[in-house]
Amino acid sequence: MYDLIVIGMGIGGITAGIYAERANLNVLLIDKGAPGGMLNNIETVSNYPGLVNIKGTDFAKNLLDQVKDLEIPYKFEEVISVKVKDDIKIVKTNKEEYQAKNVIIATGTKPKFLGLDKEKDLLGRGISTCATCDGAFYKDKDVAVIGSGSSALQESLYLAKICHKVYILNRKNRFKGEKLLEKKVKNTENIELIYEVNVKEYNEKDGKIDNIILDNGQKLNVAGVFIYIGYKPNTDMFQDLNILDETGYVQVNEKYETNIDGIYAIGDVIKKNVYQLVTAANDAVYAVSNITKINN
Ligand SMILES: Cc1cc2nc3c(=O)[nH]c(=O)nc-3n(C[C@H](O)[C@H](O)[C@H](O)COP(=O)(O)OP(=O)(O)OC[C@H]3O[C@@H](n4cnc5c(N)ncnc54)[C@H](O)[C@@H]3O)c2cc1C
Repeated sequence: MYDLIVIGMGIGGITAGIYAERANLNVLLIDKGAPGGMLNNIETVSNYPGLVNIKGTDFAKNLLDQVKDLEIPYKFEEVISVKVKDDIKIVKTNKEEYQAKNVIIATGTKPKFLGLDKEKDLLGRGISTCATCDGAFYKDKDVAVIGSGSSALQESLYLAKICHKVYILNRKNRFKGEKLLEKKVKNTENIELIYEVNVKEYNEKDGKIDNIILDNGQKLNVAGVFIYIGYKPNTDMFQDLNILDETGYVQVNEKYETNIDGIYAIGDVIKKNVYQLVTAANDAVYAVSNITKINN
């Protein structure tokens, strides 16, 4: 039996692993995808203290290297449920079943979509939620970015370096992202901002995006559409535990405890004010410190 199983190997989960290992807890990390989580979707991180303009994928690789260096056990499996039997947590994956005294949920979020016709069909064929992963496919082409937060602004700046033109489609009349990013976007020649619009329709040609129609009647001939309209928590597999709020985020107290003893949650999967790399790492340190205190 493990002292601690951490579900998710984004910066939150890996930080928890590092601190647990160093506190001599018998810990296992589990992830269903690429270690580093959301970092793999970020072109450049410029606001993490001590790291000057690091590529998201390099940051993610460094985290995995640290896991290997510290010999922290990890598995690439998908967690499908967590059950509680007396004091024991049973973590079931698509391959195995594990037991632990404590569990930290660090499963992050997934992108939201507009919900328009053809959207899911055209995912990977013109529609994307990751400029870092797919931007290069649109070299010298025109693309649209939908959104008004920091992610939309940051990834538009990246796309502007590759693409011929980037339209940013904002349904409001102002941006809600970082002011510095907004300023940079406004000073970038090949970015055009279109305010108070929604995408009404995606049109395809030969199975790929050809143009989009906006609700102001405008038609934009774009080869790619990048959607940054927010995120929803990866918590479907925890529905039965009764630890989620009405929006699907895990509810925790100031010690990152859920209402079940020994089950904690950290990072983007919890309801909080600031969703950043540094805050996910911070959550992890507090949660592990609490587990260490209780288990000593
Ligand atoms: C485009 C974009 C740009 C951003 N830029 C910045 C920035 O410049 N600076 C900054 O500080 N923050 C930035 N952020 C926010 C930052 O990326 C997140 O706050 C942070 O990565 C959250 O970390 P996390 O560990 O909570 O979750 P994640 O990084 O999302 O990791 C969650 C992990 O859980 C795994 N997982 C999910 N479900 C399961 C399951 N069932 N079984 C097993 N594993 C599972 C996933 O595969 C994933 O690896 C950005 C976000 C986006 C989307």
